[in-house]
Amino acid sequence: MGNLISISGRSTLIGTEPPATVRAPEIEPGVGCNFDSYLLVPDNTLHDRIAAAKARLGEDVVILGHHYQRDEVIQFADFRGDSLKLSFQAAEAYSRYIVFCGVHFMAESADILRRPHQVVVLPDLNAGCSMADMADIGQVEACWRELASVVDVSKIVPVTYMNSTAAIKAFTGQQGGSICTSSNAAAVLKWAFENGEKVLFLPDEHLGRNTGYRMGIPLGEMIVWDPYQEFGGNTPEAVRKARIILWKGYCSVHQRFTPEQVARVRREHPGIRVIVHPECRFEVAQAADQIGSTEGIIKAIESAPASSEWAVGTEIHLVNRLGKAFHDRKVISLDRNVCVCTTMFRITPQHLLWALENLGSGNVVNRISVDERTRYCARLALDRMLSLR
Ligand code: SF4
Repeated sequence: MGNLISISGRSTLIGTEPPATVRAPEIEPGVGCNFDSYLLVPDNTLHDRIAAAKARLGEDVVILGHHYQRDEVIQFADFRGDSLKLSFQAAEAYSRYIVFCGVHFMAESADILRRPHQVVVLPDLNAGCSMADMADIGQVEACWRELASVVDVSKIVPVTYMNSTAAIKAFTGQQGGSICTSSNAAAVLKWAFENGEKVLFLPDEHLGRNTGYRMGIPLGEMIVWDPYQEFGGNTPEAVRKARIILWKGYCSVHQRFTPEQVARVRREHPGIRVIVHPECRFEVAQAADQIGSTEGIIKAIESAPASSEWAVGTEIHLVNRLGKAFHDRKVISLDRNVCVCTTMFRITPQHLLWALENLGSGNVVNRISVDERTRYCARLALDRMLSLR
């Protein structure tokens, strides 16, 4: 089902006056209209309308909010978490509609893990992920063919970060590989090396390098595959020697952090602890005191003593929320400038309202649907990861 919904009979609500003898339909302005009409909903009514639309749907809907989501949206989430945790919570919740306030690959993952009766909705289809978009399935398949021309690919295990498209997850499943998250990347890499000689790590170069290095793999044994260069920018000899082939992809939020920022924050706040996400560059991860996944960062600050000071290298909405939740600790961003996930930020209260009110009227808008074959193969890769828990 697409995002187009019938607007017939509704135009009187946003423009022309209805004829005197005809009563206007008794529905809220905007319901049943395309999204643009929701841009006219007054800001001061949004909260109450979203709450009412959610209440009307009752147990039919579960709203998921990723930690990087803006406050005005995440306040309506039934569950908050990272993408994997949220997908499982949704399936466990059993609700008919899963409204995912995150980005496209997260909604795809929820669709892969959902129960048969569930439908996944992404309030704004433009909420993508720059990192996931950096590994196109055609490029990855071409890379695999090129690797096969110089090494035995049956000995290469693909390991794919959760932040990837369903097509890349399916490729991973087909080739005997596994998905990983930022929390379990080391455990999945260990499994991969027990089952093969080399790893193709997709699509985040930094998570792959940071994890491999912490496991004792020298930097010289990790090469980068740039899909825009001939043979990935490598020689056949370099591919033969490499243990990890890192796909050249990155997160536009975490790549912004620099070692200079770490040095500055230490100068300005002596004694502060620096914790960064493993999607940050190698030099930043090396300069930090601690590396933590999204959930790892939350746990570290939660369990820290009162009056401790933290500089955090991750998305700003999470950093600000941690600062508010633990006001007896100092929590600041490593980057003085706002470091926001602009794609996730695309989901506004207006989008959430539009999705909920349409669901309430029986219109499924912005459904995310992964085809059966892709779901099946992607599920293989996800199940491999889950079997390692
Ligand atoms: S923070 Fe980075 S990896 Fe996460 S959704 Fe945004 S762009 Fe993608």
